[in-house]
Amino acid sequence: MADQDLDRIREFAKTLRVPHGTRVKLPRDYDPDDTQGLKEKDAAELLSRGIELLSDYQARLAAQDTQALLVIIQAIDAAGKDGTIRHVMSGVNPQGVRVSPFKVPSAEEMDHDFMWRYQKALPARGMIGIFNRSYYEELLVVRVHPSILDGQKLPPDRKNTGIWTRRFRQINDWEAYLVDQGTTIVKLFLNLSKEEQRRRFLARIDEPDKNWKFSAADVKERAHWDAYQAAFGDVLSRSSTAAAPWHVIPADNKWFARLAAAGIIADALIRMDPQFPEVSGEARDALLAARVELLAEDPGARSLASGRSGPDDGDGKGRKASAKKGKGRRKGK
Ligand code: AMP
Ligand code: MG
Repeated sequence: MADQDLDRIREFAKTLRVPHGTRVKLPRDYDPDDTQGLKEKDAAELLSRGIELLSDYQARLAAQDTQALLVIIQAIDAAGKDGTIRHVMSGVNPQGVRVSPFKVPSAEEMDHDFMWRYQKALPARGMIGIFNRSYYEELLVVRVHPSILDGQKLPPDRKNTGIWTRRFRQINDWEAYLVDQGTTIVKLFLNLSKEEQRRRFLARIDEPDKNWKFSAADVKERAHWDAYQAAFGDVLSRSSTAAAPWHVIPADNKWFARLAAAGIIADALIRMDPQFPEVSGEARDALLAARVELLAEDPGARSLASGRSGPDDGDGKGRKASAKKGKGRRKGK
């Protein structure tokens, strides 16, 4: 990819990033309908180029096997988390990606510290991990509904008023530790407007194919809209660190949200700059020795070497087969 394309992706991602220390108030500070002057008709081409780039970098990340990428996606209901993941990751080798959706914690998960289930799902070196919801729910749904905190099995004296400040500190410290260990963290907030959520909920009710996506509980959650906006604003204000910044993606237009997510993830991979490992002199010698052995197995080459008449002796096929080695190698790649 040309340097100027890489620069454009970098600039694009930067415009969506929340600088460390910014005080964010929603919906005041970010417009969910923004498209940066882009048109939907141009988006498909840009998205498919972005997806190609992701696929190329993912192969290198896996081969390098030292770094990992963790993508965290948070949003209000119907903002398009699932569709974004499906589209953005469509070109990537499934063996190199793991998507982990986080729902209401199970009894076993409740029996552990809050990070336990997320720790277990972290991407290994060489992998891309996607968290569809994450430990940030501990500062979102749990904060909006104090009854959830009441139900957590923490010792009662740990549920005192400093709990949110401590959770922010614990999360920021944990992320800094992961970054230091070689995991790049990209955090995406899909920013939907209340009106667009209303329209999408109505579509989920009116279109039979979408009924499965809707639950009456979603409308109950919507009644807490302002509390969620405040909680998201606080998350963006207090956990967009230099090590693991948040990005606010305008999500009222699905095509733009997908393009933006692909651009931000591509930008992270470009900055990680994974490389195919270089083969050492010794390993290279071993490869060449193996090549000689494999060539010697060629039935045509063997009959020629032994001086006996082979089945294809006389018509030159054996010779041709060994002369085609270049083609064979490409095919096997
Ligand atoms: P969905 O992603 O729409 O299937 O919904 C998953 C539900 O699980 C949402 O209502 C989340 O708020 C809820 N959830 C996710 N993580 C937690 C958590 N740590 N504590 C309580 N509820 C959670
Ligand atoms: Mg839901």
